[in-house]
Amino acid sequence: MTEKMLKFVSLEKKMPTKRAADQRRTDFNEIYDEFDGDRATAQASRCSQCGIPYCQVHCPVQNNIPDWLMMTAAGRLEEAYEVSQATNNFPEICGRICPQDRLCEGSCVIEKGFESVTNGAVEKYITDTAWENGWVKPTVPAVELKQSVGIIGAGPGGLAAADELRKKGYQVHVYDRYDRVGGLMIYGIPGFKLEKDVVEKRAQLLRDSGVTFHLNFEVGRDATLGDLREKHDAVIIATGVYRSRDITLPGSDTEGIVPALEFLTASNRKGLGDDVPAFDDGTLNAKGKNVVVIGGGDTAMDCVRTAMRQGAKSVKCLYRRDRKNMPGSLREVTNAEEEGIEFVWLSAPKAFLGSERIRAVRAVRMHLGIADSTGRQVPVEIDGSEHDIPCDLAIKALGFDAEDIPTLFDEPGLEVSRWGTISVNFKTAMTSLEGVYAIGDIVRGASLVVWAIRDGRDASQSVHKFLTEKRQSEQAALAS
Ligand code: FAD
Ligand code: SF4
Ligand code: SF4
Repeated sequence: MTEKMLKFVSLEKKMPTKRAADQRRTDFNEIYDEFDGDRATAQASRCSQCGIPYCQVHCPVQNNIPDWLMMTAAGRLEEAYEVSQATNNFPEICGRICPQDRLCEGSCVIEKGFESVTNGAVEKYITDTAWENGWVKPTVPAVELKQSVGIIGAGPGGLAAADELRKKGYQVHVYDRYDRVGGLMIYGIPGFKLEKDVVEKRAQLLRDSGVTFHLNFEVGRDATLGDLREKHDAVIIATGVYRSRDITLPGSDTEGIVPALEFLTASNRKGLGDDVPAFDDGTLNAKGKNVVVIGGGDTAMDCVRTAMRQGAKSVKCLYRRDRKNMPGSLREVTNAEEEGIEFVWLSAPKAFLGSERIRAVRAVRMHLGIADSTGRQVPVEIDGSEHDIPCDLAIKALGFDAEDIPTLFDEPGLEVSRWGTISVNFKTAMTSLEGVYAIGDIVRGASLVVWAIRDGRDASQSVHKFLTEKRQSEQAALAS
């Protein structure tokens, strides 16, 4: 069906149907159904085709959103797919898991008064349709170049760089310490936000395009960075950030207190059919337990919702600020509330109680005091407000820092920031070592999939320039 544009004045915003909370909290399937064709076309037609599209400005990969919305509204889906994939290597993934309320949709001009266009859902619909119709094809480079690039890390940053460099004809080798491709998209983010076959299809497409994966290969254990530099003409570091931030409180070493990523990885592995002893013996399994998750970011939201799906008796999220000041996406908080999670706002842990196993978290109530230099109100403890929350499993979701990469990679010359993230030239993404680039979370700190994709795309341009110049100077030397 073909639709005219600017329908926002007469047509309400409608997301794809969200499955009922009591149904979705029993499984790990995505919570939104697919748009049907008519609804996607109609919703795309709400766009007012802005001359200055703020949605595009605030999309990290600068997607040409008004164009693919217009093409979708006109029923020209194959062209919409071509436009959408020209700026984004994994549009169906971003359509599912970008925090659109903070990015493209949060900046949509019609949001003021009419509610935004459903960009993410339309982007997902376009690419899912492209997969169904066989429009998504492996890359066949126009030329095969001899030069090779080694990429450390098969997360979204590394994969986007691999895709772009393969298109240019380079021999691309991706090394990852995990046994599967996808980084946090496979082992961090739960299936109810991103079903795993979506990631696995992309991994297969890259294999079919000629990218070579070396899995169970840990740089720092199986090779040094120096070894990879000798083997490849350029190297990209895309290792993400994995060192969980911790809190040291009385009782911190009591059994039954676990870091968020261990809990989520065990759950994802179980869903993928792996043997996970720590899940089966109950260490990393919330079934039948009173669960307390500490933290207020997106990782905390993923933990509470995972615990609920595993059959926890009760799930509470302890956060020291209030709902308005949570770092997590409000859309995810709402989803969690609908699924029965109880938020204990303005509360912070003081101690973990229990002799052999945890039996409660001692918490203290907070109020928001004067704003600090960042402009955020500082939480302050309320005297005498300590109270105990019964708990059989406490999950710490307090964020992530970078590992000590120079030591791990046996490369003291690799410069890092005071936070341990790798320092790069922001124009080229090159590190302090010639021909070595870094992208994604290991440069930005914990960030987003779409920013890692953007970095991978940008770095691939720099690597291409660097290797083209190298080729040309080698050819000139041979000719003289
Ligand atoms: P990663 O995805 O972390 O990939 C790094 C890869 O490097 C991994 O596969 C790792 O095994 C490998 N590696 C590390 N060290 C080595 C080594 N020494 N040798 C070999 N391989 C190595 N973002 C969103 O946009 N939306 C979300 O909804 C969202 N939800 C999230 C939920 C959770 C629980 C978490 C933890 C993060 C979430 N994020 C989300 C953030 C997002 O996943 C990351 O920003 C993104 O994955 C970073 O990509 P990356 O390629 O830099 O690193
Ligand atoms: Fe929006 Fe993310 Fe898609 Fe950009 S990539 S249009 S921010 S959903
Ligand atoms: Fe369309 Fe909103 Fe983007 Fe304007 S800002 S082009 S209305 S999606």
